[in-house]
Amino acid sequence: MIVRKTPIYVTKPSLPPMEEYLPYLSKIWDTKQLANNGPFHQELEAKLCEYLKVKYISLFSNGTLALVTALQSLRITGEVITTPYSFVATTHALWWNNIKPTFVDIEPNTFNIDPEAIEAAITPHTTAIMPVHVYGNPCDVHKIKDIADSYGLKVIYDACHTFGVTLKGEPVLNFGDLSVMSFHATKVYNTFEGGAIVCHDAATKKRIDNLKNFGFTNETTVVTPGINAKMNEAQAAMGLLQLKHVDRFIAERKAVAEKYREILKDVPGVTLLHDLPDVKHCYSYFPIFINKAEFGRTRDDIYEEFKKHNIFTRRYFYPLISQFPTYKGIESAHPGKMPVAERVTQEVINLPFFPDLDDDTISEICSVIKGK
Ligand SMILES: *Cc1c(COP(=O)(O)O)cnc(C)c1O
Repeated sequence: MIVRKTPIYVTKPSLPPMEEYLPYLSKIWDTKQLANNGPFHQELEAKLCEYLKVKYISLFSNGTLALVTALQSLRITGEVITTPYSFVATTHALWWNNIKPTFVDIEPNTFNIDPEAIEAAITPHTTAIMPVHVYGNPCDVHKIKDIADSYGLKVIYDACHTFGVTLKGEPVLNFGDLSVMSFHATKVYNTFEGGAIVCHDAATKKRIDNLKNFGFTNETTVVTPGINAKMNEAQAAMGLLQLKHVDRFIAERKAVAEKYREILKDVPGVTLLHDLPDVKHCYSYFPIFINKAEFGRTRDDIYEEFKKHNIFTRRYFYPLISQFPTYKGIESAHPGKMPVAERVTQEVINLPFFPDLDDDTISEICSVIKGK
């Protein structure tokens, strides 16, 4: 067995050359404006609206606070229907708002929330749906809109895996009442940490902007018990610089995905995530799914085998959010209720995936899977 000397991890943050960041820092030192809707913050909101083709965006210090604030801004209460197949912050945001999550199953091909399961789970207490565009693949946004319209529900998308994703040319961020993004170090586009809420009208943006700044509307008026979730100028500067490089990063991610697909396409028991028709992807993750009966070994066997090779993969998403001790007592979380999600969480493994992953390393990773 050949064990690589330097460990390889599931991801590596995309960084522009450091010397390109220094002029931004000098400007911050000159103006002494470090936070509170400074010039870089304003410029980044404008540039992101242009790049993402959305009307309004509010920047946040991270995606989780953006999720919590999005729910606050629409005064969501009662029960919200959501997916167990996501990063735990999706459900935590509900809990921080005293909202009861109702988990429903996912679709077997996209791993996104199943619209039919949403409809079956609606009760008189349901006020909203919180779906996730898992791995950046758009949810069935039209069906979800139909359901929300029929039952009078709000839709808040956790769009933390999507950056610039379009469906038939339309930005997926424009669906739903709000979409929440994350610019964490591990995402396709990062501002060290960061996040945003996309909305469609000026009044909603204003309310969100008040909420992320303690509820202030002017120097002496506080209209709501807001929080401090503002993005600072160092983050916003990073965001402006990253925008200049993100197209290249996404193109490189696509090339890595294609290389993986070429090598792994005929491995029995291994299912790959494929591009969907009519979708411009951002290539945020490269999950594969291991069917034990056909593959001969389990997903966890492979996960452990990788570790022996000094390759550190991750199981996104395992366990399901509904399987964590804090949530497993909820009735909708009980075992057997979500057969697709319960199977997929046992099969998924995310391979190392970042822009400059070289061909030799990709081949090495694939040979661990193929066992040769
Ligand atoms: C990353 C992520 C979050 C949280 O974002 P942070 O910026 O890390 O707070 C929430 N939901 C999903 C699906 C994510 O991938």
